[in-house]
Amino acid sequence: MNISQDHPVTRHPVTLGIVGGGQLGRMLAMAAARLGVKVVILDPAPDAPAAQVANEQLVAAYDDLSALASLAQRCDVVTYEFENVPAEGLEALAADGKLRPGPEALSISQDRLDEKRFIMSTGLAVAPFRPAASQAQLVTGIEELSGEGVSGVVIKTRRLGYDGKGQRRLTEGEPVPSDTFTELGSVPLIIEGFVDFECEISVIGARGIDGEVRLYDPARNSHVDGILARSEVPCGLDPETIQRAGEATARMLDALNYVGVLGVEFFVGRDGSLIVNEFAPRVHNSGHWTEAACVCSQFEQHVRAVLGMALGAGTRHSDAVMENLLGATDERVRSMLIEGDWMVHVYGKAEARPGRKMGHATRLSRTEG
Ligand code: AMP
Repeated sequence: MNISQDHPVTRHPVTLGIVGGGQLGRMLAMAAARLGVKVVILDPAPDAPAAQVANEQLVAAYDDLSALASLAQRCDVVTYEFENVPAEGLEALAADGKLRPGPEALSISQDRLDEKRFIMSTGLAVAPFRPAASQAQLVTGIEELSGEGVSGVVIKTRRLGYDGKGQRRLTEGEPVPSDTFTELGSVPLIIEGFVDFECEISVIGARGIDGEVRLYDPARNSHVDGILARSEVPCGLDPETIQRAGEATARMLDALNYVGVLGVEFFVGRDGSLIVNEFAPRVHNSGHWTEAACVCSQFEQHVRAVLGMALGAGTRHSDAVMENLLGATDERVRSMLIEGDWMVHVYGKAEARPGRKMGHATRLSRTEG
């Protein structure tokens, strides 16, 4: 289709619904506002971070079908800012064609087992894994993986885990504690072989409604206690590895017939191999640097893609370092403001708990050449 002839930004008002009112929704809403797009947020918490910068908030649970119907009725397109939205509710939105990205990517990303199988089906590599639905299956699965030569395992809940939550690590040969299954909530699990990686990178990719793909440069990510602490671009890898990571991301975007921004996390092996850890069907924390270093940020790109606008350039005009502001970080924010060369975002969350994402900041440096 010819996007320029069906350019929603030329029709006013265009309204975008966002399910979820956290910081990702907040930055999507801010990008949407710059394009003249109105935003309605659905979130159960009044005064959610995204609602503070949006036109309207529906205060309702994510699985409240009548609230979702009301959101769809008010909006041209509905998107989501986190992947653990109950799929049943979003299926209702998908039925009238307003949900972008569509429900398939969302439902695959909600289950680590489905996600691994999908990634493998595209010909990309994942860590060796076994599903386990009981303590006995955990023990057997770990034995089997040990037989395949893994050096330790990471046990994860299949659903609802994020930022390293719902995970347990066991080193090579360590006996499996008898309460591991119950400790993780007696829910279906996946056991992953521990990947001895050189580094972790992520690629933020976007696909428009006409199938055009735009990619951002990979970021090198460091985590503390399973939570992203820092993303840096350039990632320092050779151009061939960067190209492979981009091709892998494009392959996943196409396989999902995706519309919107997708974040793909990779482990880079010591031999340069790429192993996909997971993907997120939304804008991603490791892509926040794009706001400061690219003409079109991941947030604007997502808004453009889901509303059927032409995609923007993901070209980077600077090197960048993004730091997450975790927990009580008022002092850090103050010093960043004094330093003067950080682009600071504070998310407007009322309470700073340890490890909670309260904001982030990006510092630019001159790109060579
Ligand atoms: P996840 O929630 O799956 O993204 O895991 C959070 C972080 O834990 C990852 O970014 C890695 O740093 C680490 N991690 C997760 N799975 C593995 C694995 N199979 N091997 C090594 N490190 C892992």
